[in-house]
Order: sequence, then C-alpha cells, then structure tokens
Amino acid sequence: MRWPERPQATVTQALTACTAGMQDHTEKRRLEGLLAQMQTAEAGYLRCVGGADLHALHTSPDLLKGQQRKDKEALVRAYDQGLVGRKDGRALYDSIMAAAPHGECPLCGTGEVDTLDHYLPKTAFPLCAIMPINLVPACMHCNHGKGAALADSPDTQPLHPYVDQLGDERWLVADVLPTAPASVRFRVQAQAGWPPSLAARVRHHFDSTT
Ligand SMILES: [Zn+2]
Repeated sequence: MRWPERPQATVTQALTACTAGMQDHTEKRRLEGLLAQMQTAEAGYLRCVGGADLHALHTSPDLLKGQQRKDKEALVRAYDQGLVGRKDGRALYDSIMAAAPHGECPLCGTGEVDTLDHYLPKTAFPLCAIMPINLVPACMHCNHGKGAALADSPDTQPLHPYVDQLGDERWLVADVLPTAPASVRFRVQAQAGWPPSLAARVRHHFDSTT
C-alpha cells in the first residue's frame, strides 16, 4: 500500500476555506465560535498520533467535547457543504485527495480515490469533521464499507495512512495451495520492526478491506 502525504493544512485553514463566501452569517458566526474547540481537538489529535496511540483518540476529552445539537449539525454541514461543495473548501478537499499516489485508494490499494474518508466518523466526532489530518483519500467502496463504526479495541484500530509506518519490506505473502484448481491464500507477515499490536491491526485492516 502507498500512503499519501500527510496534509499540511490546519483545521483553522480548513474552517477559513469552508466559510469563504458563506452567505449565512449566523451559520458562519456559529462555526467561527467553535474554532477554539476545533483547535484544541486538533492539538489532542496530534498528541495521540504523535504517540502512535490511535485508540486513545476514541476517549480523548479534547475530541469528545459535547456540543449542542445545532453546533454538531453545523460542523457536519461545514464538511458536506463547505469542504465538499464550496469553491475554496473544495480546493482543499481536492488537494487532500490528490495526495494519494497514482490516485490509488490507500486503504485497499486497488480502488480509485474518489472521496475523502473520515478516520474518526464526523457524526461521533464533529470537531474532527473538517480537520485535515482526519481526512484520508479513499475509494467509495472503502468509505462506505468503513461507515461510522468505532474500533472496540487497540487491536482492531484501523490503520491511519498518515501515522502508521509499515516499512518498505513485503508484509503480504501469498501461499499457493495444492488444490484443484490451484488457489491462493494471502496472509500478513509481521515485520521485525513493527510495534506490538501493529501486526494484529494490519491483519484486521486487511480482513476488513478485502
Ligand atoms: Zn479502497
């Protein structure tokens, strides 16, 4: 699998892009009023990924701040209408998608990138709805297949293409089975340098994306 470059844009830049040209000033003020929370959430996100403790994202108090229903809806709309649908937001959206090498989905390695996937689902983590580091280029199949499910243990935590380093050595092995007709079975072979639980996570990732 080829991982895309991590986006350099911040959530502050993403919000500026999402709200550029926004006609609804009440909505714009509401989103701007949430910026400080989004910045705190981004700092918490970066702390978790910096320590490669991705499962901690699920319980980070910075990311899980309770919002009013209207605030949550505005944050999700900022993604759907601002990042996907409005000119400046779309430019950022497209630049994150374009970072996938050869337009190839980094999650399955076979599909063609045509969307962005929220690593942490936007409905459960609205403060991460437009946070660039939470947005991963993906094919439609992977995006829909992953849905809004949350990992229930560190071993089932999905791989994060901006964070997890798998190295350059081959870790996917194909065994040809002596069946008639011949068949092939793929398996994950953990690399020596992988931290504990990465092998389990790679196996889980491979099982859930194929
Ligand atoms: Zn895919």
